[in-house]
Amino acid sequence: MKPRNPWPAAYARLLLVLLALILIGWGTGQWLLVSLLAAVAALIWNFINLRRLEHWLRLTRKLDPPQSLGLWGEIFDGLHRMRMRARERDKQRRNLVRNYRDSIKAMPDATVVLRADYRIDWCNQAARDMLGLQWPRDEGQRISNIFRHPEFVTFLAQDARETRTLSLPSPVDGRLWLEVRLVPYAKKRHLLLARDTTALRRLETMRSDFVANVSHELRTPLTVVYGVAETLEDGIGENPELARSVQLLREQAERMKSLVEDLLLLSRLETGDGGRAGEWVDVPAMLASLVEEARLLSGDRHHQVELEAGSGLLLLGNERELRSAFANLVFNALHYTPEGGQVQLRWFADAAGGHFQVRDTGIGIEPQHIDRLTERFYRVDNGRSKSRGGTGLGLAIVKHVLMRHGARLKIDSEPGRGSTFTCSFPPKMLRQALATRETLRA
Ligand code: ADP
Repeated sequence: MKPRNPWPAAYARLLLVLLALILIGWGTGQWLLVSLLAAVAALIWNFINLRRLEHWLRLTRKLDPPQSLGLWGEIFDGLHRMRMRARERDKQRRNLVRNYRDSIKAMPDATVVLRADYRIDWCNQAARDMLGLQWPRDEGQRISNIFRHPEFVTFLAQDARETRTLSLPSPVDGRLWLEVRLVPYAKKRHLLLARDTTALRRLETMRSDFVANVSHELRTPLTVVYGVAETLEDGIGENPELARSVQLLREQAERMKSLVEDLLLLSRLETGDGGRAGEWVDVPAMLASLVEEARLLSGDRHHQVELEAGSGLLLLGNERELRSAFANLVFNALHYTPEGGQVQLRWFADAAGGHFQVRDTGIGIEPQHIDRLTERFYRVDNGRSKSRGGTGLGLAIVKHVLMRHGARLKIDSEPGRGSTFTCSFPPKMLRQALATRETLRA
């Protein structure tokens, strides 16, 4: 409800007092004395009310204002209403903060609020259980002083303006796996979120173990079938129908063999059994031999295969894995480029790192497929891929090898004009071979 306007009543009262003063002054003839007494009375009245107001504002915690008459009464009531409104707003704000805190407290994921320098501001119960934080003892401590896992310390040292994630075991119980996410917000503040991914990880391990085991078990019978088909093919004689069936048998056995090999390689890459990156690989030499193979594979399709490789530029990595990834890209370029087309391989370095690039003038890829090409068994054209013996796993292998080498794959393509696949490696993984450095200096 809108408070009423006090001024009409105030003017009326003032008018009455003035009339009374005029009457008294007229009756007594003491104009000066009457005016002086009236002025002093007004001053005292205002002074008393000002004092009560100041006292109420400064000392009293009471909400109820002092009682007064006239305009002073209205002022006290107005201030009272303002205080009540401010109190109500304060209550609402406190409730809001409490509700937020309660909802974060109830979250099953660990939540830690970090201020500048990754110092702990607040954490919920799940953070205490999963990360071993103690509250309030750890308030103001740097999170890296409590949670000292080396990967976590490096993770904190990376770019603070981007959201990052990391998987690592819980410091409380090594059997628990956590996915930790660091989200920047406000100025120099971060939210650290962690969720328990043990069950997911177990499932993922079960899945890849299963695929690896099945592939492994299939390997031997398939080799036998393939061998038998080959022998049969050699001794089949003049029966064209049988010859065709045996040829089909051999081709399908061969396809299954490549599938099994690719699946095994993928699961080795996933589980990390493939041997970590660790030797200086002579990429130009590797590419030279790949080009030879590519020309043989192209055969009478007469592709123009060209190589441009910065001489002596070495890459730190696992040679077998890198060769398999690069070969997949090169052979894909041949398979998806019509005869007579060009396939260019480049290995070069710039400020951003080392790059292996395969450019072809082939059929290209529609933009909507590009993001999904590295998924297992994703093919743009199923028939086309299968007819040339593709397993649909080639680019998934490339992606995993690159991930293990801290590298990235970029795909640019234009349907009908060709594609460019670029693998980019960080600068710290490059080195110029000693011999070339000396030749350059000479
Ligand atoms: P596939 O065994 O089917 O070649 P990949 O994983 O190697 O499996 O490739 C996935 C899909 O990406 C292929 O089926 C093909 O459609 C497309 N692709 C890969 N490389 C090229 C290329 N150089 N040009 C056009 N399409 C390509």
